Formats: sequence, structure tokens, C-alpha cells
Amino acid sequence: MGEPTIFKKIIDREIPATIVYEDDLCLAFEDINPRAPTHLIVIPKKEIASVDDICEEDEALIGHLFVAMRKIAADLGLGDGYRVVTNNGPNAGQEVMHIHFHLLGGRKMTWPPG
Ligand code: AMP
Repeated sequence: MGEPTIFKKIIDREIPATIVYEDDLCLAFEDINPRAPTHLIVIPKKEIASVDDICEEDEALIGHLFVAMRKIAADLGLGDGYRVVTNNGPNAGQEVMHIHFHLLGGRKMTWPPG
């Protein structure tokens, strides 16, 4: 095993984060460099490096994350719309190799993303 990722350290409470949601399977916390009034990082507690590393046994887990994001967005009053983004690999700008979903809201989004 290599060095734990920054997100694994957040799961293990080795470094601080502003956690807004947690259950047995996932965690949501505020992005340290927010790109929107609401910018959360939503992660499974299971260590999956990227979308490329999702396997069939993870299907229910990934679905669980989306149900959690829908609940979080509702709780935060993002009824006007929000965006869920995941970056996969270097060309997409993935910096942390623990799969994560950016949940962005609180402003009008532009399309396409850069
Ligand atoms: P990505 O480029 O998709 O891998 O996104 C990684 C995200 O993690 C970026 O938006 C960073 O701002 C965010 N990030 C990195 N370190 C931390 C941290 N310690 N706490 C919260 N967010 C972080």
C-alpha cells in the first residue's frame, strides 16, 4: 500500500475537514478551494481510485452516493439546480486518487465546463 490519500486521511480523521454528511458508506465535506457557494466533495469510504476502478460489486455503492447527494442537495436548498462532477484521470484534472464527486450549487452554472 502506498501513502494514504488526503481523502482517506479525512475519513480516518487524521486531518480536519468540515463534514456535512456521513453514513456507513460515504462522507461529504466542504471543498477546501470552493468553486461555487456550495462546493462539497462526496466520497465512498471504500478506497476506489477513480471511475476507471469501479467494478461490478460497487454498483450499489455508487448508487448510494447519488441518493446521498440528492438528499444533501435537498437539505441545502439547492432546488434551483446543482451540478455533480467527477474528474477521471490526468486529462480531466483528477488530483486526488480516491474517487469523488464534486457537488456544486448556489449559482448559475455555465456549459460546457472548461
Ligand atoms: P479533483 O481535481 O477532481 O481531484 O478534485 C480534488 C478536489 O479536492 C479539489 O477541488 C480540491 O480543492 C479538493 N481538496 C484537496 N484537498 C482537500 C482537503 N484537505 N479538504 C477538502 N478538499 C480538498
